[in-house]
Amino acid sequence: MQILDGKLVSQTRRAALKPRIEAFREKTGRAPHLAVVLVGNVVASHVYVRNKEKSCADVGLQSSRIDLPETITQAEFNAVLDRLNQDDGVDGILVQLPLPKALDADEVNRRLRPDKDADGFTFETLGHLWSGQKIVAPCTPQGVMSILSHYQIPVAGKYAVVVGRSMIVGKPMAHLLTEADATVTLCHSKTPNLGDFTRKADIVVVAAGKRHLLGKDDFKQGAVVIDVGMHGTGDGKGLAGDVRLSELNGWVASATPVPGGVGPMTITTLLENTVLLAEKRKGLTKSRS
Ligand code: NAD
Repeated sequence: MQILDGKLVSQTRRAALKPRIEAFREKTGRAPHLAVVLVGNVVASHVYVRNKEKSCADVGLQSSRIDLPETITQAEFNAVLDRLNQDDGVDGILVQLPLPKALDADEVNRRLRPDKDADGFTFETLGHLWSGQKIVAPCTPQGVMSILSHYQIPVAGKYAVVVGRSMIVGKPMAHLLTEADATVTLCHSKTPNLGDFTRKADIVVVAAGKRHLLGKDDFKQGAVVIDVGMHGTGDGKGLAGDVRLSELNGWVASATPVPGGVGPMTITTLLENTVLLAEKRKGLTKSRS
């Protein structure tokens, strides 16, 4: 079984970003800029945002962090988003979720400019994706596509099963695989006999959020298994996925580990989305990602 190494793919893709960032700096006098909005004091959110800031610095992207109090009103929050939308020096905006209950997360999806939507979550960005006019795609499923592409795993003509139908992972994953000419089945919590689908698939992407849900018996021999799941191991020391990876050796062709598989690709794709949005808004590229 080949381990699909997300850290390696991440390093390769980050290295490829650096000359683009340098070229952007030469043309505009500044680096592409990601603004991260963080509301309240959720510890995990602060850790995620610190990681994103560090990753930006590693590749030479500018990042800024807007810390807002838990008590902020919707009107004040909207005003912050509007200011970032209008700021020509900001290329990508990310609002770290979850938001406090008093704020409407859908307002972010309605209000953020799609040409600054670094996460790829807004309604307009998703509408563009579904209508074949991709601006950027949500980071995690796009990161999975980058892993498949890096390892030259054929997708066209293959049968792919995606487990999970969230708007940020499962549904866009199924869409990206369809766009890459796979035949795709999207399974979810109400799918009877999940294994009947996964066992037939050439490629299985598991994003159910259920620790160790699937193992050897759920995959056909020679399948490609991508594990998006991310769970603490309970002892505070490690991470586990939705797949029982240790069972797969000698059976499937390749699989992503947790940690070190899809996880690193999510942040790397965020960096790529920010650079691409910056290039597009400044007219430095006409191509779509
Ligand atoms: P979610 O809870 O929004 O969606 C889970 C989906 O899985 C649902 O559509 C549900 O119908 C389906 N599901 C649940 N139990 C199932 C079962 N027994 N059989 C079949 N389908 C089932 O979760 P999400 O935000 O899509 O995230 C999924 C997992 O991926 C989580 O573990 C999350 O932590 C992880 N995740 C990882 C990254 C990363 O960067 N590695 C990024 C995003 C999410």
